[in-house]
Parts: sequence; structure tokens; C-alpha cells
Amino acid sequence: MFSPAAYHVTTLDGEVKVDLTTATPAPVPTPAPAPAPKPAPSGQGKYKIVIDAGHGGSDSGAVGAAGNYEKTLTLSVASKVAADLRNNPNFNVIMTRTGDTLPSLQDRVDIANGAKADVFLSIHANSAVPSAHGTETYYRTSQSSTFAAIIHKHLISATGFFDRGVKTANYYVIKNTSMPSTLVELGFLTNSAENQTMLTPQFQQRVADALAAGITEYYNKYH
Ligand SMILES: [Zn+2]
Repeated sequence: MFSPAAYHVTTLDGEVKVDLTTATPAPVPTPAPAPAPKPAPSGQGKYKIVIDAGHGGSDSGAVGAAGNYEKTLTLSVASKVAADLRNNPNFNVIMTRTGDTLPSLQDRVDIANGAKADVFLSIHANSAVPSAHGTETYYRTSQSSTFAAIIHKHLISATGFFDRGVKTANYYVIKNTSMPSTLVELGFLTNSAENQTMLTPQFQQRVADALAAGITEYYNKYH
């Protein structure tokens, strides 16, 4: 639509000439300068948390009493933990896998050390004889004992399983990561009762919420 100033009206020899073709175009409003782009969400300056879903791909991990796989349970819980933690704008959450893939143990360590992560949490479930049961948490390096204790405190209240305690072991990913790191064994897939419980979405969400709460408590106290 033309504004009245968008064309020329001239009077020549008694004729009124309206020249639209040479009309001065209405000035284009100068756009406001674009706001400076926000920094790319590189996570720079944020608290970096690596969540490691055990096993994956061709490595199913332990096989549950119902024929289910450890790799499926660990990814489900890990994804829920990551989703919880991503609600906190102070956190940069990195998963070692987001699908049914098999990063090597060294790959997982490299992801954490390469990112200079602040904490590393590896999620697993146990297997043994059918009667074995309970929840346990492992750490390896001395800088990890407090982190492991806080994670275990939250985890054990969420699983409701027998408390097998906090232990040390030479698991590769907790031995070779250079930040506080812990590996949780949620329960025993080979125990049919625990396995049935662990298969429920309610259990997986409750445990994920507890693991996220444990990480958040550690962050609040020690970052
Ligand atoms: Zn495992």
C-alpha cells in the first residue's frame, strides 16, 4: 500500500502529472541492531557431568531373569538422570552414549577426561546367583569417596533394596577418570524380584531422580 509520500505529484502546463515510477520509495525503516548472539551453548563455565550408561550395542551386559538386558536398563535410567540434570542451567550434561551403541571403556574415560568433567557417574546393574540381591556403589580413587557416599545415600533410599554398601573396585571407568567418579549397581538382574521391580518405569524414574539429587547435593556442597 502506498503512503501519500510515495509518489511525486508535479504540475506542468496545467496538467497534473502523477509519476509513480520515479516515486521516491518510502524509506525502509532501519532495523534495530540485532542483539549480540548469545554465547554458543558450549557449556563453558558450567559444571560438567558425565553420565555413563553401562554396556550397549553388541555388549548386552547382564541378562535379566526375564531375558531383558542390562544395557537397556542402564540407558533408560541414564537418559532420565540426564533429563533431570538438564533442568539445572548450571549443569552441562554429557552422556557417553545416547543409543544402543558400544563406546569402549577407554572411549568413556576419554569423553570424561577430555571434557574436563567435574563428576562422572556410571550406571550398571548386577548379576550373580539368583539369590544375590541389593544395591551397591563403587569408587576407586580417594577423591571419589565422598561423591560415592552421597550418591549411594540417595540411591539406596530410592531402590528400597538391601544395602550392600559403598565399596572400592578397580573398574576401568572409575579407575581412569581424573575427576570424582562412581559406579552404581542398581540391583541384581538375576534376582527375579529385583529384576521385575527394575523393569518398571516408576522404579527407573525414582532412581534417576535420586541419582540426579545426589549429584546436585554434591555440587551444592563441593563445587
Ligand atoms: Zn554392567
